[in-house]
Amino acid sequence: MLTLRSKALDTVQNRKTVTVTPPSTRVSEYFNSNVFTDSAMMEFLPKEAYKAVSAAIKNGEKIDRAIADQVAAGMKNWAISKGVSHYTHWFQPLTGATAEKHDSFFEPTEDGRAIEKFAGGALVQQEPDASSFPNGGIRNTFEARGYTAWDPSSPAFIMEGSNGKTLCIPTIFVSYTGEALDYKAPLLKALHAVEKAVVNVCNSYFDKNVNKSWVSLGIEQEYFLVDEAMCVARPDLMLTGRTLIGLSPEKGQQLEDHYFGSIPPRVYDFMIDFETECYKLGIPLKTRHNEVAPSQYECAPNFEEVNLAIDHNQLLMDVMEKVALRHKFKVLLHEKPFAGINGSGKHNNWSLITSTGTNLLAPTANPESNIQFLSFFVNVIKAVHDHADLLRASIASAGNEHRLGANEAPPAIMSIFIGSQMTEVLESLLNNKTSNNKSKAASINVKKIPEILLDNTDRNRTSPFAFTGNKFEFRAVGSSANCANAMIVLNTIMADQLNKFKAETDALIKKGKKKDDAILEILKGYYKASKKILFEGNGYSDEWVKEAAKRGLNNIKNTPEALNAYISAASKNLFVKNEIFNEVELNARYEIMQELYVKKIDIEAKLLAQLATSHVIPAGIAYQRNLAENVKAMKDAGLSKADTEVQVNLIKVLAQHINTISTNVSKLQSELEKAHHQANTHKSAMAFSSKVKPLFEPIRKSSDALEFLVDDELWKLPKYREMLFVK
Ligand code: ADP
Ligand code: MG
Repeated sequence: MLTLRSKALDTVQNRKTVTVTPPSTRVSEYFNSNVFTDSAMMEFLPKEAYKAVSAAIKNGEKIDRAIADQVAAGMKNWAISKGVSHYTHWFQPLTGATAEKHDSFFEPTEDGRAIEKFAGGALVQQEPDASSFPNGGIRNTFEARGYTAWDPSSPAFIMEGSNGKTLCIPTIFVSYTGEALDYKAPLLKALHAVEKAVVNVCNSYFDKNVNKSWVSLGIEQEYFLVDEAMCVARPDLMLTGRTLIGLSPEKGQQLEDHYFGSIPPRVYDFMIDFETECYKLGIPLKTRHNEVAPSQYECAPNFEEVNLAIDHNQLLMDVMEKVALRHKFKVLLHEKPFAGINGSGKHNNWSLITSTGTNLLAPTANPESNIQFLSFFVNVIKAVHDHADLLRASIASAGNEHRLGANEAPPAIMSIFIGSQMTEVLESLLNNKTSNNKSKAASINVKKIPEILLDNTDRNRTSPFAFTGNKFEFRAVGSSANCANAMIVLNTIMADQLNKFKAETDALIKKGKKKDDAILEILKGYYKASKKILFEGNGYSDEWVKEAAKRGLNNIKNTPEALNAYISAASKNLFVKNEIFNEVELNARYEIMQELYVKKIDIEAKLLAQLATSHVIPAGIAYQRNLAENVKAMKDAGLSKADTEVQVNLIKVLAQHINTISTNVSKLQSELEKAHHQANTHKSAMAFSSKVKPLFEPIRKSSDALEFLVDDELWKLPKYREMLFVK
């Protein structure tokens, strides 16, 4: 019988590239063509409505119902002019994926005809059933309703299918009682908090002209591409996004021939296609290249305002998966699809920018503005130092656990890389007697940070959080994550830190200190207090693990434990004080994340048991039978015991592996059962992490040993080398 594997191999051989014709060779001619942009609004909205929406976008002002009706009508006309028939609120529930529920514009009229209708109410609010989404116990059964509410700061867009188009309206998603059930609502709050704090600090000490600030984010997305036929033949890839078993190929990434290498033609066509779709949606994709592992790629857009950047990244992942279908690829966004070669991350390049156009994390040649830079720079370090565990929690997931806890970067230990030049600057700050100072020379020394600081070559690829010249790069975020988790935490801790900085500096000024001296004294204290989080060496090394332990830095490898940082007294205080989450929301979120971990490992465990039982063991047994028959035939032919020794030993080795697999599958099943019956979700998650998951390893090890030993003809699952080298 033809196996799925052999069919897949055959199919892949005969794949044709898919011709793609972008609307124009100039992206500028169709960029944003599916977005309700400012210019589309100007064209389709009455003046009054346009003004109201602009104010809502710029200043977060409320839009009243009459105006909403006008906006909805304009949006509908624009969408219909583009061939759209349906609309949906587009939101980001805590499942990690985006959600949509389409409604038609069409409405029957009494005279038996129909009209296209879209009222302000439908634009502003919808009521999906919240009970079908993770809610962490917030919802009680008699009040299952939740509602989605329009976020005017992220523009509406059109999602194109091959047979129809839908108008998508980005929204927040909250329970009927007002608690956030999504990523966007708390993100907007965190952004509001940090923007306010930034303006406050700038106005007080550095620049009265700053009346607004915004947070920038550039998200680099790594992913794998595997042929669809191969995926179909690998139930683990289909169901969990990663291979639960599979022998590392003889050739992996050791030759370093894939990184920045020439892009395979089929992949190239896919990239053009998916980039075209992204451009129509206003996603400013800028770079594409091969990544380190075979079949691994990366794309990165220009940075944008955080809320928009995250919407765009969520949309990008969705578009990528859809476009891949046309090219008979499956996109793997999992953090670790294959053992033995690199996993995937999503670097978050983050900075703070003022309404006057200053990047607050970019040093300049001007000594006066450099004290401003230095203030924000050191405050980032202090914030990360004080809340390292919370940042660690913000990137904790079942998938990312494979990168963070394992010997692959970035490590689970939070540290910051700032480069040798910034280290020098901070050291000179520390060694200056700026505190009780009249010594001018000293403070001038610090304030003169020369332009050469913008040396971008000072790079450390092993750091989870690195300064890269004019921004910080949070590298530990997982490739499948919604970056909002990381950005909610980072921006909240920054807001909180800046508020503290302001209060402490003001206190010194009140005591009679000069402004600059007060600032430098506070910064000096911050640097001293947070120095232990700074690390310039190799983050992947064992020495760092030891050194970090000596410094008292945490190294929390498992997800359920890492997540505890969300509900510590300090975190609760932080989030409540800054009005990001109330305690109910925080507890619910924690519960949801623990639950998600349980579900993911549960699926993996069950599937692994299934694969081991119905694929791996039968292949081992079949090969044993062949060998046994062969031994018997050899004996019948008069060969001696010595002659059959190799075959007999092989049968024994196979038996040992089959035994190991079988025993551990039984253990796995009983541990699964126990893990499900714990007192609470956290305890369940801990049991999944410490009792269930460790059993994956012996099963995998013996399975991979069998893959190595068993006759290739008998192995039904596609092998790594067959999946990983797309032409
Ligand atoms: P790499 O890290 O691969 O060397 P770069 O650092 O040049 O690449 O750029 C990565 C991302 O950083 C891009 O998305 C880019 O737009 C973004 N980026 C550049 N400057 C900023 C900034 N000031 N704030 C946020 N993101 C930025
Ligand atoms: Mg980068």
